[in-house]
Amino acid sequence: MASTSPTTDPLSLWDASAAESDYRNAEAGEVTTDLAIVGGGFTGLSTALHAAERGIDCHVIEARQIGFGGSGRNVGLLNAGLWLPPPEIAKELGDERASRLVGILGEAPAYVFDLIEKHQIRCEARRNGTIHAAHAPSGMADLKGRFEAWKSLNAPVRLLDRDEASERIGTKAFHGGLHDARAGTINPMGYVRGLARAARAAGASIATGVRVTALTREAGRWILTTDAGPVNARMVVLGTNAYTDALWPGLSKTFTIIHYFNFATEPLGDRAAHILPGYEGVWDTAPIMSSVRRDNEGRLIVGSMGTVIGGMNGLSARWARKTIARWFPELGTPKFETAWHGQIAFTPDHIPRIHRLAENLYTPIGYNGRGIAPGTVFGRAMAGLAAGEPESELPLAITDMVQSRRSGLMKQAYQAAFTANQIRKAI
Ligand SMILES: Cc1cc2nc3c(=O)[nH]c(=O)nc-3n(C[C@H](O)[C@H](O)[C@H](O)COP(=O)(O)OP(=O)(O)OC[C@H]3O[C@@H](n4cnc5c(N)ncnc54)[C@H](O)[C@@H]3O)c2cc1C
Repeated sequence: MASTSPTTDPLSLWDASAAESDYRNAEAGEVTTDLAIVGGGFTGLSTALHAAERGIDCHVIEARQIGFGGSGRNVGLLNAGLWLPPPEIAKELGDERASRLVGILGEAPAYVFDLIEKHQIRCEARRNGTIHAAHAPSGMADLKGRFEAWKSLNAPVRLLDRDEASERIGTKAFHGGLHDARAGTINPMGYVRGLARAARAAGASIATGVRVTALTREAGRWILTTDAGPVNARMVVLGTNAYTDALWPGLSKTFTIIHYFNFATEPLGDRAAHILPGYEGVWDTAPIMSSVRRDNEGRLIVGSMGTVIGGMNGLSARWARKTIARWFPELGTPKFETAWHGQIAFTPDHIPRIHRLAENLYTPIGYNGRGIAPGTVFGRAMAGLAAGEPESELPLAITDMVQSRRSGLMKQAYQAAFTANQIRKAI
């Protein structure tokens, strides 16, 4: 059967600008391996890297190209913790489980920076922190709560008053901010390609442009039907996240897909030197959040929830122009070079899941828009499981899939709200 054709257009700015080169390999043939990994994003490739480093034979199968999902399309904010503040996580998981998860994810950006250093991954990594910026006085109250919660855990966070936030971000538009020194920014496609390079160097094999279309159990092993030949494996990890297809019945109904879009300007040179001179990444406290960061070439990247509507000159482009005019009026109307969007898997309580779908078949899923560090450390945990560590060592308790009949409806409702927001802000 023919392989799924690889994409040709850049998926995102990062696809075009990453210094790490893409790896493509659509070789056909039968494969027998210990660990089969479906999906070539942070989760799948971190699983592969850590498994291969432990001497486990493993094989990654990616339907399109490395980083085709959220991993090659995100904003590149390498944040600590989850999107929910620690006390909210404790309400959902209980103190003990929450404290374990928050601890692991609090240290996760440092682990990612270490991996980047260890494998010399060329991904524009900057360890200068991120700023959660208050879009309104109510946002500042939210940030104070987050500050207290993280401070009590000895995290290196700092509240910025309006003046300091304005100096660091380069706009008076925000009411203050919360700086988190654990965090930073990366070129996410560079990072995911670097993980692929490191995984291969450690002994993992990777097939791209190959879709897994069925999972069946035979003689105590898994048979993955692919369009390039069968893969026979002892254990399987699905790292398909928001790009989950119909491979495992019902899995795509356990979360709601929401979209996030970005517009990148042309390199702005000295005109934008006063914007984020420390290169922190910024996202705001608005219920429909927006973000802004710069890349190594001096491009400004602004984004928000929703899809790109109308291409480079439509509604979303007007939203992006207006947003830049509101935040950085001194820039005039810079030209946009690239626009893209991607899918995020939202769980009902905004907490990720690790499901055991069947014997020796696992999936970490539902990162709720924060997947660079979680995907890396959840992948590491999957490798531990493959090496024989008990499930109790995982960052999260294993849970059963809970399907929602409303996930399709919710997706439409979110999309309508995000489009309305773009219209409101583009006028
Ligand atoms: C626009 C956007 C902005 C974001 N911003 C941030 C941010 O700033 N910081 C942050 O931490 N997180 C952010 N996120 C979230 C983050 O990108 C994701 O959580 C993360 O990339 C998920 O990684 P993953 O490896 O689990 O899944 P993905 O990277 O989505 O990979 C899944 C892969 O599985 C493949 N696949 C699916 N089905 C099959 C099949 N049947 N056979 C073979 N392959 C298959 C897909 O092709 C895909 O490549 C953002 C996400 C988006 C979309």
